[in-house]
Amino acid sequence: MKLSQYFLPLIKENPSEAQIVSHRFMLRAGMVRHLSAGIYNWLPLGLRVLRNIERIVREEMDASGAQEVLMPTLQPTELWKESGRYDALGKEMLKFPDRAERELLYSPTCEEVITDIVRQNIKSYRDLPRNLYQIQWKFRDEIRPRFGVMRGREFLMKDSYSFDLDYEGAKKHYNLMYDTYLRIFARMGLTAVPVRADSGAIGGDLSHEFHVVADTGESALYYDAAFDDIRDGKRKMTTEEMRGLYAAADEQHKPDSCPISKEQLREARGIEVGHIFYLGTKYSEALVATAIGKGGEAVTLEMGCYGVGVSRLVGAIIEASHDENGIIWPEAVAPFKVGIVNLRAGDAKCDAMCESLYATLQTQGISVLYDDTDARAGEKFARMDLIGLPWQVIIGPKGAEKEMVELKHRKTGEKQEISAAAAIDKLLQSC
Ligand code: ATP
Ligand code: MG
Repeated sequence: MKLSQYFLPLIKENPSEAQIVSHRFMLRAGMVRHLSAGIYNWLPLGLRVLRNIERIVREEMDASGAQEVLMPTLQPTELWKESGRYDALGKEMLKFPDRAERELLYSPTCEEVITDIVRQNIKSYRDLPRNLYQIQWKFRDEIRPRFGVMRGREFLMKDSYSFDLDYEGAKKHYNLMYDTYLRIFARMGLTAVPVRADSGAIGGDLSHEFHVVADTGESALYYDAAFDDIRDGKRKMTTEEMRGLYAAADEQHKPDSCPISKEQLREARGIEVGHIFYLGTKYSEALVATAIGKGGEAVTLEMGCYGVGVSRLVGAIIEASHDENGIIWPEAVAPFKVGIVNLRAGDAKCDAMCESLYATLQTQGISVLYDDTDARAGEKFARMDLIGLPWQVIIGPKGAEKEMVELKHRKTGEKQEISAAAAIDKLLQSC
């Protein structure tokens, strides 16, 4: 993509409505625009990140054996009367009549609809177990939408729902999702701390929240320092090993009975990016979702539900990865892997070298944003740092004479003068 043609409306000054760094950078970098309280337009740069996060979630869910479905955003309220949750969510649930005066709602979550699908289409133990997921917009009329996409009213969620014949099956799905979530967040460059949590309005008696550690997080966390070491690359652990580490949310942490030493304990703020629940038969009983068991008896299905805050993750990743100049995208979610900066657009040598590099990288499947505009060098550097692409290739008239470029790594700030060919090699290896 050439910057001269790209819809990237950048903002120089810090927008006064943004209280936290991710919101500030998302507005300044032209990723999103506010439409109404807690409701955002996604512009091209932001949408590329959102799609990358979706892709990682989808790949890992598919790898776990879950199957993707897509349920509507609008639902009839009858199902919620049947489950007994019509009033449970209070004003968070947005309801409205259609032209025939039938009441609809904009889905805040989908336990009722998925249970309805399953009760109509799964009849016997032969059709089980199943884990069905979707990546779909939700609406919750939050009292205080804030922090940009972090606490929106409309937001994108991956939600999945497992169905089993017995508790052992449900527990197996729960543990599988636990491991899958650790992998999903690790692929995004995050170490998410899984903490035991209350199950709230969703119900059930076993639940974990996954938190990204950041000062702006809304929850207090207590956890083993090993999580920080994993995040900082000082230590490697399998998901099995990580499952044994201590981590608890505020309500669950009891200083007197905490199993790890004070020195080993970390206290920090966390952003909830995922939540898994064992539901038991709460919904299958209310909506009568049963299947014929091996002995011919009707079995009420055991359920679990599992959410990932896909749009919240865009903000959470920025909270976890930025400096004073802008965003530092982890490679896997970066909107483009490489930014090419032409320091003298219009100069025949610079243009030719940039165009050739641009074409070569794209042919190799590497996404590139090429700054071919005639802005000043300082402005070009500042905006490349702001939008946070992992690699920058800077080409100016002096270097172009010798076929040399400057390769800058956004994360470390490290710069090297190398030949264009060597830069291509290096980018092919790391992207
Ligand atoms: P929170 O405590 O932050 O309100 P929740 O417990 O209500 O979250 P769940 O019902 O478990 O959330 O939803 C699954 C995931 O969806 C959450 O872990 C979170 O990442 C995301 N999420 C929930 N509410 C919002 C929101 N208002 N804006 C953006 N993402 C959200
Ligand atoms: Mg909530």
